[in-house]
Amino acid sequence: MQGSDGGKTDVKSLSLKELTEELARYGEKPFRAKQMYEWMHVKLARDFEEMTNLSKAFREQCGQRYHYTALEAVQVQESQIDGTKKFLFRLADGNMVESVWMRYKHGNSVCISSQVGCRMGCRFCASTLDGLERNLLPSEMLDQIYAITRLTGERVSNVVVMGIGEPLDNYDNLLKFIHMLTDENGLHISGRNLTVSTCGIVPRIRQLAEEKLQITLALSLHATTDEKRRRLMPVANKYSIAELMDACKYYFDSTGRRITFEYALAGGVNDSLEDAKELAAFASELCCHVNLIPVNPVKERDFVQSEANKTQDFKMKLERSGINVTVRREMGRDIDGACGQLRRNYKNN
Ligand code: SAH
Repeated sequence: MQGSDGGKTDVKSLSLKELTEELARYGEKPFRAKQMYEWMHVKLARDFEEMTNLSKAFREQCGQRYHYTALEAVQVQESQIDGTKKFLFRLADGNMVESVWMRYKHGNSVCISSQVGCRMGCRFCASTLDGLERNLLPSEMLDQIYAITRLTGERVSNVVVMGIGEPLDNYDNLLKFIHMLTDENGLHISGRNLTVSTCGIVPRIRQLAEEKLQITLALSLHATTDEKRRRLMPVANKYSIAELMDACKYYFDSTGRRITFEYALAGGVNDSLEDAKELAAFASELCCHVNLIPVNPVKERDFVQSEANKTQDFKMKLERSGINVTVRREMGRDIDGACGQLRRNYKNN
């Protein structure tokens, strides 16, 4: 795995097996790799210097040989309402990504980014306004969780890949990240506590199904007809809702994991009772859960939130059809809530 630092190997993206092989090339025993892996992925060391049970000479060699990713927190915003924290991190090459830390009754959850920018072009989203800059490395996805664990001093129990970027557009790095995050030699977060959200890249959903992971797949549906979905999400020009539903069914059949449908409610766009009826029809065909998201207004976009009573009516309509539905609690409303806004505001200042 090549890092951004002059082509040096990105050591934090190596699995324990790969690291063992890599160090063996320099005559190091497997236990050395195990020690180093533990420093990186359990003790969350920020650099080789912290790895005090490795000799100074060895640490210096590693510093010369390898790229060691570490994120710099450029800005941290804390919500006065619910304690949610939003982090703006600078990567080694100067690019920025956002991550969010949320405290729930069942534990702490972190929302991470998977790319710098995004090329999917969803009309309501701030992350895609300037297109895609680059993919994040597995280490850079892990680092968001590691940095937040260090900064908050609290264990992270849930991870959602719902920040900047389309995770299935960075498939190989995402998969490596998932394996390393759930690895018993690392933070060992259960696959069941990991959610990956996608705008709906059908072949990748099918590929992911075949990995037979225990993660939750969330599909950003947002509309119930192809025509309407195309107006909100350019990816809908490529894949129809029927194809998406087939892929979701395949995911469920292959993994036994219930799908989550995400549906952002935008006033006057997709929040009528007719929309709710159609959504219920799709949802009842699959074993799924519907998560309604009040759309987060972005200043470059002209979508507005549905009125509170409309949201409730929409929810009730689904419930009456026997659909399992929640309305996403709006965490951190007072701190540039919608993903991509913090990075954007920083860039444009
Ligand atoms: N690219 C992935 C994950 C990132 S976005 C995806 O499309 O799923 C995470 C979720 O936030 C998606 O459901 C996305 O559609 C939604 N989202 C983006 N901008 C939003 C906004 N302004 N208001 C509400 N939801 C938004």
